[in-house]
Amino acid sequence: MESFDLGIVGGGPAGYTTALYAAKQGKSVILFEKDEIGGTCLNRGCIPTKIYLHAAHVYQEMKDASKIGIFTDNINFDFEKISEHKNNTIQKIRKSLELMIKQAGITVVKEEAHVVSENIIEANDIEYQCNEIVMCSGSVPKEIKGLEFDHKFIINSDDILNLNQLPKKILIVGSGAIGVEWARILSSFDVEVVLTEIAPKLVPLADWEVSKRIERQFKMKKIKYYTETSIKTIEDKKVTLSNDEIIEPDCILVAAGRAAVQDKGLNEGIKIIGDAAGEIQLAHYATSQAKELVLNIPYNKELIPSVIYGTPEIAWIGKCFKSKDEEAEYDVVVYPISALGKAHCDGCIDGFIKIISKDNKIVGAHIISPEASALIQQITIAMQNDITVDKLKEVCFAHPTYSEGIFEGIMQL
Ligand SMILES: Cc1cc2nc3c(=O)[nH]c(=O)nc-3n(C[C@H](O)[C@H](O)[C@H](O)COP(=O)(O)OP(=O)(O)OC[C@H]3O[C@@H](n4cnc5c(N)ncnc54)[C@H](O)[C@@H]3O)c2cc1C
Repeated sequence: MESFDLGIVGGGPAGYTTALYAAKQGKSVILFEKDEIGGTCLNRGCIPTKIYLHAAHVYQEMKDASKIGIFTDNINFDFEKISEHKNNTIQKIRKSLELMIKQAGITVVKEEAHVVSENIIEANDIEYQCNEIVMCSGSVPKEIKGLEFDHKFIINSDDILNLNQLPKKILIVGSGAIGVEWARILSSFDVEVVLTEIAPKLVPLADWEVSKRIERQFKMKKIKYYTETSIKTIEDKKVTLSNDEIIEPDCILVAAGRAAVQDKGLNEGIKIIGDAAGEIQLAHYATSQAKELVLNIPYNKELIPSVIYGTPEIAWIGKCFKSKDEEAEYDVVVYPISALGKAHCDGCIDGFIKIISKDNKIVGAHIISPEASALIQQITIAMQNDITVDKLKEVCFAHPTYSEGIFEGIMQL
């Protein structure tokens, strides 16, 4: 029986990061992947959605270009070509990842694997001895009762990536990151989007002020949404909502969370990280767990940034309020990006940088702005390192930038 220091089931961010770190430490590593290296993130998640979002953004910018004196005729798009570009880009990234894995000397087995015991993994009837096993088997789209996927009319976040033609009208169920990103992609490509959310506000996990602004932006973009609403009945393609609204979409995208994939053979000796652990299901959380597991570099579970992509980006970290009443004991500043020169240069002024502090320390931030994904990292570094508000006031922020919004906000604390 072939034997290895480390056996990993799943070649997504959790699995391949664990493998690469361990191989760098000189360990012999075997990685099992039943589908494609890169996992959900590269093949069905983070990357394909951002490729579509980029294309949607370019299309919208071109449509609006005459406002800034740039004229182009017959602006149009070919969704099949955009999908082709998406597939090619994923393939390019996957190839370089596979090369990196190969160069690190990691053995890759492209088969479904099962944990037989604490030290044995089986794949395609072959058993492999592994001193340690890490389960990185990820997650799959969650089904809701009554909305089981038929992969044609009721689809999930994997199915939608296989569409070569856009629907004319879509109903999206769920307003988390996946639901909102797809609502933004599809509405930018002129698809009529209706979104339902069972919670009282859109993006239920976000700060109340973020949800409120997203709702306003959805209205402006003519994305119809219903909160505190579910699906009552579906007859043929006629959908009746719990508020008795009737919608006739071409398809329903169910974006209502993801279910962890775990092997039945698991026992206490086997570590589970990434989406499979069923905690925070984000790629950067998965890679932080891998970093801690192999390199012993800790991370702070309270300081995992959340980002929803699109125009503009939405990002947050730390303390989050359900309503204004909860803010009383904190210092809170909401700095509008319309006060920033850079936002005017870029023609995107609808957003804010909200910073929350207590006792001279930042305890949270909520940003709706271009580059919010990068801005939140500045706050994360400050929070992780206990940099006081007074110390941050000493920092010189470049002009004109969105970072100045962080500086201006901090100056008001
Ligand atoms: C539409 C969408 C958009 C997303 N956008 C973002 C984003 O912008 N930012 C972000 O941080 N996160 C995002 N995510 C979440 C992110 O993709 C996951 O958190 C991340 O992929 C988790 O990594 P993982 O390695 O734990 O699992 P996965 O990436 O799911 O990888 C698990 C791998 O294990 C393999 N596997 C499972 N069982 C077996 C078995 N028995 N044998 C062999 N192989 C097996 C699977 O085939 C899969 O390749 C998004 C997800 C979706 C669906």
